[in-house]
Amino acid sequence: MSAPVTALFRPRTLNDALKMRAEQPGATVMAGGTDVMVYIESGTLKPTAILDLWGCSGLRWQQSITGGQFHGAGLTCTDVLRSGQSHPLLEAAAATVGAVQIQNRATLGGNICNASPAGDTLPVWLALKAEFEVASVRGRRRIPAASFWQGYKKIDLRPDELFLGILIPPLFGHTHFRKVGTRLAQSISKVVFAGRYNPGVDACLAFGAVGPTPMRCLKAETALVAGAAVDDVVQLVREEIAPIDDIRSTAVYRRQVAGNIVRRWLTSL
Ligand SMILES: Cc1cc2nc3c(=O)[nH]c(=O)nc-3n(C[C@H](O)[C@H](O)[C@H](O)COP(=O)(O)OP(=O)(O)OC[C@H]3O[C@@H](n4cnc5c(N)ncnc54)[C@H](O)[C@@H]3O)c2cc1C
Repeated sequence: MSAPVTALFRPRTLNDALKMRAEQPGATVMAGGTDVMVYIESGTLKPTAILDLWGCSGLRWQQSITGGQFHGAGLTCTDVLRSGQSHPLLEAAAATVGAVQIQNRATLGGNICNASPAGDTLPVWLALKAEFEVASVRGRRRIPAASFWQGYKKIDLRPDELFLGILIPPLFGHTHFRKVGTRLAQSISKVVFAGRYNPGVDACLAFGAVGPTPMRCLKAETALVAGAAVDDVVQLVREEIAPIDDIRSTAVYRRQVAGNIVRRWLTSL
């Protein structure tokens, strides 16, 4: 049975949201609720107070700014797909989250802060070298995506902070997104990949669902930029990832598939 929620806070502005967060650091933050509601229903989360950000307009905007593009934490996957202004890697990931009903509620901030290693947008932020902006009434901080996920479901967010949004710097190169799940819709990733490759300059081979956090294959990236053969890059990818057997797949399958994804993409270029 669900626990009784005795207080519900619904800020309309970012300032109010930050004040409420400071006053109620124990409240469960909820955006679209597609993860939180599942946890409540299953009894793994028993909040007594909820800070509901769904109506907070200060989190739901997108803008090109000097040096990149900013996406507010409250943008949903549907917002991303409708705007046509997001990076193609992000659009590709947003289109694979759940199905339309979930995409209408699932926010970028929720995907990032839920910190499931299988979250579909997570490798995208690594591939795009994104920075995350978080804030409290004390001020704002920027955190590189690469250091935000600190362990399984552990994030660099303090109890009085909210996740504000994502800054994507302008980057060049070929990009590729691939999710492998049981079905095309309503399926959690067995392996999810986001890659960016600017030949001779830099590369980013980022995976989800192959370790406790989303991860880059740094040795494989270095080899790729240095002109290594595709087979060697694939071998390094398979060595660097750290998949496990779980209810969705096996480590052996994930290693095989991760290498296949990279091989097919690089061969196609
Ligand atoms: C049927 C179904 C299918 C799904 N399919 C997929 C899928 O294919 N791929 C995938 O990646 N995910 C999937 N999910 C998971 C979920 O939809 C996503 O993780 C989604 O992006 C979560 O966003 P939300 O706004 O609903 O988060 P919420 O449930 O509201 O919150 C998730 C977490 O983030 C925290 N949070 C949210 N916003 C903020 C903020 N601004 N500041 C601080 N903390 C915050 C919350 O406290 C909570 O811990 C699925 C879920 C369901 C129920």
